[in-house]
Amino acid sequence: MEKGKENHKAHCLILPYPIQGHINPMLQFAKHLSHKGLKITLVVTKFLRKTMQEFSGSSNISLEAISDGFDEGGRADAESSEAYLALFRLVGTETLSELLEMHKTDSAVDCIIYDPFLSWGLDVAKKFGLVSAAFFTQSCAVNNIYYHVYKKELKLPLLETEKFVNIPGLPVLEPSDLPSFVYVHGSYPASFEMILNQFQNLEKADWILVNTFHKLEQEVIDWMAKFLPVKAIGPTIPSMYLDKRLQDDKDYGLSVFKPITDVCMKWLNERASTSVVYVSFGSMAELGAEQMEELAHGLKTSNKYFLWVVRSSEEAKLPKNFSEETSKKGLIVSWCPQLEVLAHEAIGCFITHCGWNSTLEALSLGVPMVAMPQWTDQSTNAKFVKNVWKMGIKTRQDEKGLVEQTEIARCINHVMEGDKGEEIRKNAKKWKEIAREAVDEEGSSDKNIENFVSSLMNPST
Ligand code: UDP
Repeated sequence: MEKGKENHKAHCLILPYPIQGHINPMLQFAKHLSHKGLKITLVVTKFLRKTMQEFSGSSNISLEAISDGFDEGGRADAESSEAYLALFRLVGTETLSELLEMHKTDSAVDCIIYDPFLSWGLDVAKKFGLVSAAFFTQSCAVNNIYYHVYKKELKLPLLETEKFVNIPGLPVLEPSDLPSFVYVHGSYPASFEMILNQFQNLEKADWILVNTFHKLEQEVIDWMAKFLPVKAIGPTIPSMYLDKRLQDDKDYGLSVFKPITDVCMKWLNERASTSVVYVSFGSMAELGAEQMEELAHGLKTSNKYFLWVVRSSEEAKLPKNFSEETSKKGLIVSWCPQLEVLAHEAIGCFITHCGWNSTLEALSLGVPMVAMPQWTDQSTNAKFVKNVWKMGIKTRQDEKGLVEQTEIARCINHVMEGDKGEEIRKNAKKWKEIAREAVDEEGSSDKNIENFVSSLMNPST
């Protein structure tokens, strides 16, 4: 159908930064768009396409690959993060342009939904005269903090005398509530530069979409909307877990790790309602060996059932014979279908690193959290979980930065049992309902998605 006519089937190209925590929300969003009638092409790197464990698209979602310059060995082959990101920008721009040229003859692309970690995606969209939409995979609060640093309204390094940080739209924060790249000045400079670069060309984007929902981050969304056209479109949790308008969108669709699905679900099916502690630190965080040991003993001391995701690369840090000794109480797997797990009635709490996806998923599925943040945006998310949404508790560290086993057992008991955790459990139910409302028909996020889709379907109106 010609452009400008009613219901032009617009073609969107989705470009996530190629790590699990960015692919998941962007692919889920792609599925929403595809159900609303758009054609979608998900773009990953050649290395990821070669090494991914699973991809289940749909008739409206196809997969294509561009190069980050490390097609054979992936990021691990790069000398440094600086080198990786610089080459990705160069080769990515080139190969993304080639892909767009190629599509001109069959199904021309109308819009690029790009991850602002890859800010050059916007430049390519502009070069080809396409609609551009930035898709932020972190919370609006975190984006607001980074934006302030970018604008130099929050000066770094923070002064040692600074006990509190005041940023418009946010509650008063302690320095340690800030993302680690901000608080620990000078850590991971290449990643921090990439994060600040998100804003360098942002005023050229036609849309700014954020994986959050209005009632969750009302104050900061409203504040940011005064100077950037931010639109909350989340949570990008499959509909079958929330509003239930769609039933065939169960899985993430693209997995970097292989989920041990059947074993996990069978094990959970045999457990009583809200009796299990689910533990995961996401796809990247690495615990120290000592911390891993404390966590293991904390789980044992709590005497609760536990399902613990320990990625293969972390396995050697488990205490000797721990799996065997605790086999009656626990199940340890290298990766699980997290959404299905969190939605299972056997889960009573989630010990989480507070990656933004895990936080949103737990919140939207009504699972109380024990927050144990490690780095990047996780401390900020943990602060909100504990003090703003009151949906969990945050572990305390000793003077060496270690969360001891007694503290872990205390937090589990606090959240799962007795009067002290009552408010948290009540709030968990409340947030699940509010998240559902946001994505259900006529909800705040649904309306924003509808507006985005109709602007693409009817470009002349
Ligand atoms: N995840 C999963 N299985 C696991 C652990 C994590 O499917 O065993 C998913 C989880 O549902 C989330 C993503 O991986 O969508 C992790 O993203 P998050 O932002 O929480 O953390 P990151 O991995 O980026 O640190």
